[in-house]
Amino acid sequence: MAGYVWDFSEGDKDAKDLLGGKGAGLAEMTRLGLPVPPGFTITTQACREYMRDGEVPPELRVEVTMAMRRLEDAMHRHFGDPADPLLVSVRSGAKFSMPGMMETVLDVGLNDLTVHGLAAFTGDERFAWDSYRRLVQMFGRTVLGIAGEEFSDALDKAKAARGVSSDVDLGTDDLRELVSTYKEIVREQTGREFPQSPREQLDLAITAVFNSWNTERARLYRRQERISDDLGTAVNVCAMVFGNLGPTSGTGVAFTRDPATGRSGVYGDYLANAQGEDVVAGIRNTSGLAELERLDPEAYADLRTAMRRLETHYRDLCDIEFTVERGKLWMLQTRVGKRTAPAAFRVAVQLVDEHLITMDEAIDRVTGAQLSQLLFPQFDPSGARELLAKGMAASPGAAVGMAVFDAETAQAWAADGKDVVLVRRETNPDDLGGMIASVGVLTARGGKTSHAAVVARGMGRTCVVGAEALDIDPVARRLKVAGRTVHEGDVIAIDGSTGEIFLGSVPVRPSPVSRYLEDGLEVAIAEAPDDETRELVVAVDRILTHADSVRRLRVRANADTPEDAERARRLGAQGIGLCRTEHMFLGERRVLVERVVLAQTDDERQEAFDALLPVQREDFVGILREMDGLPATIRLLDPPLHEFLPDLTELSVKVALAESRGEVDPHDVTLLAAVRRMHEANPMLGLRGVRLGLVIPGLFALQIRAVCEATARLLADGLAPRPEIMVPLVGSVQELRLVREEALAIMDAVSQETGQRLDLPVGCMIELPRAALTADRLATEAQFFSFGTNDLTQTTWGFSRDDVEGAFFAQYTANGVLAVSPFETVDQRGVGRLVKIAVEEGRSVRPDLHLGVCGEHGGDPESIRFFHAVGLDYVSCSPFRVPVARLEAGRAAV
Ligand code: ADP
Ligand code: MG
Ligand code: MG
Repeated sequence: MAGYVWDFSEGDKDAKDLLGGKGAGLAEMTRLGLPVPPGFTITTQACREYMRDGEVPPELRVEVTMAMRRLEDAMHRHFGDPADPLLVSVRSGAKFSMPGMMETVLDVGLNDLTVHGLAAFTGDERFAWDSYRRLVQMFGRTVLGIAGEEFSDALDKAKAARGVSSDVDLGTDDLRELVSTYKEIVREQTGREFPQSPREQLDLAITAVFNSWNTERARLYRRQERISDDLGTAVNVCAMVFGNLGPTSGTGVAFTRDPATGRSGVYGDYLANAQGEDVVAGIRNTSGLAELERLDPEAYADLRTAMRRLETHYRDLCDIEFTVERGKLWMLQTRVGKRTAPAAFRVAVQLVDEHLITMDEAIDRVTGAQLSQLLFPQFDPSGARELLAKGMAASPGAAVGMAVFDAETAQAWAADGKDVVLVRRETNPDDLGGMIASVGVLTARGGKTSHAAVVARGMGRTCVVGAEALDIDPVARRLKVAGRTVHEGDVIAIDGSTGEIFLGSVPVRPSPVSRYLEDGLEVAIAEAPDDETRELVVAVDRILTHADSVRRLRVRANADTPEDAERARRLGAQGIGLCRTEHMFLGERRVLVERVVLAQTDDERQEAFDALLPVQREDFVGILREMDGLPATIRLLDPPLHEFLPDLTELSVKVALAESRGEVDPHDVTLLAAVRRMHEANPMLGLRGVRLGLVIPGLFALQIRAVCEATARLLADGLAPRPEIMVPLVGSVQELRLVREEALAIMDAVSQETGQRLDLPVGCMIELPRAALTADRLATEAQFFSFGTNDLTQTTWGFSRDDVEGAFFAQYTANGVLAVSPFETVDQRGVGRLVKIAVEEGRSVRPDLHLGVCGEHGGDPESIRFFHAVGLDYVSCSPFRVPVARLEAGRAAV
């Protein structure tokens, strides 16, 4: 086996790192005996060395020569042979699919001599000159870096001179003429001739593909999809087959199931008499596969057989590029296909029912991110709406935004916080930035496999394509349809599940999957408008049920009110992992906090606490009643007290103004003094959490007593409240010991007063590095730990979450310091290591130490995998993330 170059017959589907996705797919199909034109793959390793050294490794040239000779032998045809030339395509292909982001050059090997050979061999002179024209154009643009307009302007002129509007109406002589014009453009723009040597064309095309790894749009795509910049691309060199050799030829894209809806049965687009990119570019509207079946039943049958074999082999939905050359089918690409969220769930369950995969595999075929897409609201069909047109449903969702007609405007307006829908005749890879910035994408041309559709599906962006009724004028920035005109900035709504386009905004309603989660399977099935929706809801139910049965992590919710608690419970939460008590000090209760702060004596302060006690007790009764039988972790007051007092500046101004008018309120003056006294330069690291509890005597006691009394009351009612008392921001075991002793004393007292035995667990948050590092000591006093990974991230990195995201994170992501915000996905190397240490040391002292995580990371898929791996008992996240966490916890366990 060679070093930098592998024949298609040498690789397989598992060699993606080295051969890229396309190379691995071509190799696998070759192994399966499917009709793949012969060829070879240059590895990503060669690309990485090229990027490192600025030149290709010298051995590569030799290996390419040998591979080309093998290819010539296989094809019985020679590269550069004037009589019967071999032509090749030079195709990019990275480990992860990046649709249309990098370059491919077709028809390499054509020159002033071989063009005659091609004409003779195919018996089609026009075709030969058209291929040559395409080569000079594609090569000039991608390899020589000449602006595409140079060529398209020349093409337009040629058409004008002939008085025709489409390039298919140009004759052989026109095309021959055009080739000279194109070669002239190359000469003018680069100061050299279009290379006539096929080998030079090949070598230049190979380095051009390497270079296309680093174009701006490829980098942008990778950032969006979180693909690393140092993987590099492979290069596939593949013997050309021709779909543009008349009506018995053609090219197409096929899916083994519908990637938009998941409907079973093959799906695809076909274009007769067309080459390569004509389908994906969306420049001509395509026909379905039925067209191929009608035109050429035999080629169609071969395609069906190949599709079935691929699906059986990959045991998943595959997508395929194929070409028919004068009735003979050729397979040009395959991979496990990208699909929408509904398709992912339905296909996974279909494959289980067809006994192709197990349920364990099925839950790994869907993601939490896809589940959350299914929870987005949908347009309400009973709401008022004005239908403008209907296109093809390419990527689901309900998007409402202002129409914009180019990618730059989309990005600029989105940066101003506007929702925009990007409207294009068709999209191309340079529109990527605009697609990312938009809530939805709408095109007039192209099928479900066009660039717009593929990219939007990959990103989960709502998309409608091929709405032919739209007359889009990007220069005038408007579209006309059905006698109406939509100008830039007018609001439109697009439905990616039906393909409908509406003028103005349309009311939304909960999606069928959220109905299922909130109200159960029966309700959702009863309300489902069609079989597909029913199938989807059932698929989600089966997958979540299986995830629940295999996961080890329990899922709790962060809930502060009885309403949140009730919602969380319906969504499957197995307890509350974080009940914040801050809101219990807000509103009318602020005056009581003020009295606590202003109290001159212990008695005065106690009076304020006494007034707070009954209201807090009622708060806890409400939440604990809702969570009957399930644990609820109640965090004692965490934020600095001054957050409950008036703002320093505002109050200073008020007092100063009052003074100048000579009408000072003495209460304001005392308050101002207190606010000033409590003002902190760095409140996040100031008097908060357990520090507050120790510095203001009676504060935590009040909260603990309220919890105990609420518990006793519910016990007396025959319920099973399970509160847990959690102490925030602990850094030293002594802090925890003091609070715990106080808690035990209160439990005793309330037990005696009420006759109910109270034994509430007391534990602490781990949100300071010191807490993690002294976990063995903390565990002597704590019955549980809850990792507060938001604060732990702030304190470990020294980042203030409220400030950095806008200030410099964008730059830090761009220059690679951060791959993703550590507040979104837990930083495993740093913060994660602290978590690991705390888990190990804590459990070494107290083997039954109960461990969980609260905070944003509890709902993040990647972080959940990590928490599973380090052995936590549960994650806690916001109620609406609970289903996602259930699924991800299941996926982590299989
Ligand atoms: P992409 O990754 O953008 O799909 P490809 O390398 O697959 O780029 O090629 C672009 C287009 O050219 C595809 O439609 C493909 O089917 C077609 N193509 C590539 N190689 C050949 C070939 N050897 N013969 C005919 N068509 C080809
Ligand atoms: Mg392709
Ligand atoms: Mg915290």
